Amino acid sequence: MRIDILTVLPELLDSPLNNSIVKRARDKGLVEINVINLRDFTKDKYKTVDDYAFGGGAGMVMMIEPVYRAIEKLKSERKYDEIIYTSPDGEGFTQKMANRLSLKNNIIILAGHYKGVDQRIRDHLITREISIGDYVLSGGEIPAAVIIDAIVRLIPGTLSDEQSALSDSFQDDLLAPPVYTRPAEFMGWKVPEVLLSGHAAEIEKWRHDQSVERTMKLRPGLSEE
Ligand code: SAH
Repeated sequence: MRIDILTVLPELLDSPLNNSIVKRARDKGLVEINVINLRDFTKDKYKTVDDYAFGGGAGMVMMIEPVYRAIEKLKSERKYDEIIYTSPDGEGFTQKMANRLSLKNNIIILAGHYKGVDQRIRDHLITREISIGDYVLSGGEIPAAVIIDAIVRLIPGTLSDEQSALSDSFQDDLLAPPVYTRPAEFMGWKVPEVLLSGHAAEIEKWRHDQSVERTMKLRPGLSEE
């Protein structure tokens, strides 16, 4: 899988893409992630990527030309399955969406900034718009990092125990069961007896029951969402 991120602030992506599971997947060659600076696609001396909004009003708008040039260059090199724009008014990001995106070969993610991007970018160049929640962030880099983290951990071979992604919350419309580690007792607080029993089938049943209970209590409508 290959992911190209278009941004005016590449530094914001340094840490999330170079640590932990995303780093491991990149090191193993399971995913290639390129951070592309839109300023490299400007033609003026000042490397301008934004301009005043037509019609006035506060806030700058990201210009179409650098974005167009960057996307055209990438598209001339390979075929893309999705060209995503991160936007607060986009479709809400979910585990199901992450599952589907993890099966794609090549995707581009455009991170917006300022007041957003020129609408013509959204109308003509973007295939999908994704929001990570009903709040407004300063830029699309953190949303891009969120989306990439959720996708990359699903690529087979990324997690050391592949089962562990399948038993996470939201897979099978269930929240994950509680987990414990040593010591078995701390300040009198005990780990559930069944987990120490060594009975694989009973442990499995207990975990499933806990998942169902947690889901009913915390997210009763989850399977219909
Ligand atoms: N004026 C816009 C917000 C711009 S915020 C509006 O009111 O809708 C600047 C950039 O941050 C956006 O272009 C987008 O790429 C990103 N962004 C902000 N909040 C986001 C969210 N909840 N999900 C995804 N991207 C977001």
